Amino acid sequence: MSIRLLAVEDDPHIARLLERELGRLGYVLRRADTAAAAARELQRETPHLLLLDLGLPDRDGSDLLRELRAAGNRVPVICLTARDRPVERVGGLRAGADDYLIKPFDVAELDARIQAVLRRSDRDAPQEVVVGALRLAADEAQLLGPDGAIALTPRELHVLRRLMRNAGRVVTKAQLTETLAALNEDIGDKTVEVYVHRIRNKIHGHGVEIVTVRGFGYLLRAAV
Ligand code: CA
Repeated sequence: MSIRLLAVEDDPHIARLLERELGRLGYVLRRADTAAAAARELQRETPHLLLLDLGLPDRDGSDLLRELRAAGNRVPVICLTARDRPVERVGGLRAGADDYLIKPFDVAELDARIQAVLRRSDRDAPQEVVVGALRLAADEAQLLGPDGAIALTPRELHVLRRLMRNAGRVVTKAQLTETLAALNEDIGDKTVEVYVHRIRNKIHGHGVEIVTVRGFGYLLRAAV
C-alpha cells in the first residue's frame, strides 16, 4: 500500500521538488499551499504523514499543528523550517511535531526521516487519545475526565471511541450504526441519536462537544 503524504508548503519550487522526488520514491503526495487549504484537506482524508512548512502565508504552521493536536489528531508530522529560524523549530516540536528538517534539505534524508517517524508511530500505537479534558486510555477500556473515570456502558464507550479516534472529522450515522450493530445492538431509526444524547450528557462540561452535522453524522471536537 502506498504511503499518503500531505505536503503543506507555499514555496512552489519546494512543493514541486517534493512532489517529483517523493513521487519517484513511491509516495502519494497531495499538496496544500496555505494552512486553510491544509485544514480542508485534513477534513477530507487523513494522510499517513504530514510535511508541514512552518512559514505559511495565512498562518503559522505551528498554530495549525497545535490546533490539530488539541482536536485529538495524532497524524505524524515532520516540520520543514528555514535554517535561520531556530525559534521556529522549537515551536514546531512544542506544538506536537514528531521531527523537523531544515531547508534546504536532501530528499534522501527526508525519506529516511519519514520512514523513521512512521516506524515510531506504528510502534507507539495504540496511543492514548486526548480531546479537551477527556482521555481515552490506550487500551480503550476506560474514559477519564479531570476527576477520574467517567462511567459509560460498553456500547456508549464503543460509540465515543469511534468519535474520539476521528476527532475533528465527521463520523457518519451509518458508521456509528455499524459500530453498534457489531455489538448485536438492535438498531432502530433513533438508536444512534439515543446513544449520542446519552454520551453528550455524560461528557458535558469536559471541554468537548459532539456537533450534529444534519443529514450526515456527528463530529466530536474540543469545545471552543
Ligand atoms: Ca514558507
